[in-house]
Amino acid sequence: MTEQLNHFIAGAAVEPSSGHYIDLLDPVTEQVYGRSARGSVEDVNHAVGAALEQLERGAWSQLDGARRGRLLSKLADLVERDSERLADMDANAIGRSPIEPRRMDLPNAIANLRAAAGWANQLEGRTIPTGGYFGTRTLSYTVREPVGVVGAIVPWNSPLMITVWKLAALLAAGCTVVIKPSEETPQSALHLAALAQEAGFPDGVINVVTGYGAEVGRALCEHPHIAKISFTGSPEAGREIQRTAGVLFKRVALELGGKSPQIVFDDASFDDAVRGCALGLFANQGQVCAAGSRILVQRSLAERFGAALAEAARAVNVGDPHQPGVQMGPVAKKAQFERVNRYIQLGIDQGATLLAGGVSTPGRGWFVRPTIFANARNDMAIARDEIFGPVGTLITFDTEDEAVALANDSSYGLAATVWTTDLVRAHRVAAAVNAGAVGINCWSPLDANLPWGGLKTSGIGREGGFSGALAYTEEKVITVLMPS
Ligand code: NAD
Repeated sequence: MTEQLNHFIAGAAVEPSSGHYIDLLDPVTEQVYGRSARGSVEDVNHAVGAALEQLERGAWSQLDGARRGRLLSKLADLVERDSERLADMDANAIGRSPIEPRRMDLPNAIANLRAAAGWANQLEGRTIPTGGYFGTRTLSYTVREPVGVVGAIVPWNSPLMITVWKLAALLAAGCTVVIKPSEETPQSALHLAALAQEAGFPDGVINVVTGYGAEVGRALCEHPHIAKISFTGSPEAGREIQRTAGVLFKRVALELGGKSPQIVFDDASFDDAVRGCALGLFANQGQVCAAGSRILVQRSLAERFGAALAEAARAVNVGDPHQPGVQMGPVAKKAQFERVNRYIQLGIDQGATLLAGGVSTPGRGWFVRPTIFANARNDMAIARDEIFGPVGTLITFDTEDEAVALANDSSYGLAATVWTTDLVRAHRVAAAVNAGAVGINCWSPLDANLPWGGLKTSGIGREGGFSGALAYTEEKVITVLMPS
């Protein structure tokens, strides 16, 4: 029997007004294992109405930061209680081994909720000295108010973690929300909303409308009562969202893709750099926005490093992620399988040297072989475009200046890694690289207290950390005349 999922609006499961559902496909078997509600403008209107009611008149609008924080702490406890179940939901939906979300996504999500529980009571204003008002003294101060009802649009690659990045911060700030999960991965967002209800959040604070981007996503962007869109996904969708939301002057935060460089100097700790680069390439089948897919290697090290990385790629155990010992499952969907293989073929056609992997033939399940290219140039498609699959591109450099120039010659600017044992060089290169986050001798360190986001095509704004919570507030200034 297939599972049927409905929207979650105002604290209740709600069937789609259209009566239509979307099939959910298992990437390992390519079989339908469930269906989820196909949302429409009517469903979005219903959910936004519930969220607005709570924001303006409901019990939520009466809660101070301390009490919002207590609810967030309770939600963190419940997510911790159900963490294996939530990790399995996300893993099964995209064919990922559950070990990764259990070790990475869930602990990060729980830490975010706990951190936000503290931020909820720290969103303070300022008292600002001024020159007075036409000769009369004044007192000016600011208060932080919730930005309003948020539309949170989420991709499929780490669904729960990315949902929580948005949810934790916006709840700390006192906002309400309509979440639109990816059409491929609606389960964990729906379960999270049910856990929030169990924690005691008033009905209507957290609503989930499932469905397609062009229908539910667009309806959120066009809705007059959505104050902010927080989007994580592809640059193509991000561009369209910014255009739509811009006409209505909505606040927009965009967390988009990347083509993040890992710069390996010849003084790096060799084994650490190989391990770190392999992790940055193959975690979640390479379907990670911060994937370190452009590996810049100093010439003297290039051949040995390429060989070691190719060996690491061949050693990855690819197969059914439910089987013990399997490290890598299929990519999440057919379109992704075709896209990754198209890029691998392009790499071969454009003259890069294939060291491991290669084009995968279609079979049962969308399995892609971990692939390493060497002798690539930075103008090749495999070096410029985000492939979103387990494909690494090695480019050789001679000098530090050349490495930095190559790293910055990209339309993206999300993350970067510097592998070196020279402390001064590490900081010099970290300062020179155009990226939202730089890891020195570590790939993509994520933490609830650290801001995350990119430059250029990688997006606008930051989530995470205290500044992530501030981003869901408006700073209002109040001035009172103080005649003596
Ligand atoms: P996508 O852009 O296709 O979809 C993301 C979400 O947006 C989905 O919920 C989708 O239904 C919705 N959507 C699509 N078109 C829309 C539109 N026109 N209006 C409103 N909503 C729309 O991306 P995806 O394939 O789900 O995810 C992969 C992309 O996400 C990659 O580019 C990856 O780098 C990026 N990503 C970025 C980060 C980050 O933190 N920067 C994290 C994870 C994924």
